[in-house]
Amino acid sequence: MPAQGQHRKPRSLNRLTRVCLVAGTGAAAVALPLVGVAQSASAAEPAKAPAAATAKAQDYTVVRGDTLAKIATTHHVKGGWKALYDANKKAIGANPSLIRPGLHITLDTTPAAAPAAKAPAKKAAPVKKAAAAAPAAAKKADTGWTRPVGDAAIGTGYKTGGSMWSSGHHTGVDFLVWSGTPVHSVAAGTVVHAGADGAYGNDVIIKHADGKYTLYGHLTRPVVSVGQTVTEGQEIGISGATGNVTGPHLHFEVRTTPDYGSDIDPVAYLGSHGVTV
Ligand SMILES: [Zn+2]
Repeated sequence: MPAQGQHRKPRSLNRLTRVCLVAGTGAAAVALPLVGVAQSASAAEPAKAPAAATAKAQDYTVVRGDTLAKIATTHHVKGGWKALYDANKKAIGANPSLIRPGLHITLDTTPAAAPAAKAPAKKAAPVKKAAAAAPAAAKKADTGWTRPVGDAAIGTGYKTGGSMWSSGHHTGVDFLVWSGTPVHSVAAGTVVHAGADGAYGNDVIIKHADGKYTLYGHLTRPVVSVGQTVTEGQEIGISGATGNVTGPHLHFEVRTTPDYGSDIDPVAYLGSHGVTV
């Protein structure tokens, strides 16, 4: 006789299922460039510089006795003489203290100053977003192995004793999920069974590269067929309450052969592949 499913009605399924769905939408990390602002902001801003300085380009012709500092002060150049020098470096040359009369320069330092003024405000939001997305991204680390039904909790554990199981113990673990939850292959493999399987109801059995088998029981229906290869995380069926059950859940089992009775601890097995449940 094949094993029987769990005989307890799982509780709080609705909440658990919702948690699973929300977790499933975990966004990938958004890689956002950090905006460097310290450099341009270091140019001392004279207190006298009017905040409402216009962005209009203004030409100025250097006269005898001018210095960049004097010009900057007289014309309320935003950013002071350093900004003025930065905006006219090509015309002035390497030495900001040497400006010759007749030299045409621009008093408009806005292009250089604008990014520095705006960057800090824009910077705050993206950085926060990136930090919030990080945990979700970390969870998605690609190990080649994953959980069968997201973050669903385990109701009845492995080898739970009792007369309800023909082998004398529970041959897998039961994840608490409502009917209709997508079930995923925990790793890449080949489907060796998909359909009716006695007390397991409709189940899917997958053989993996290490020679072990994983079984997903009580499905409403499989969505794969025998001989099909699947990848890690691929949807293989829809959870349900078929077979010998008193309530919907996913019975997840790991075997050393395709046959009943060769079960091993599924939690330890997933754990050995870096997946905690
Ligand atoms: Zn079970």
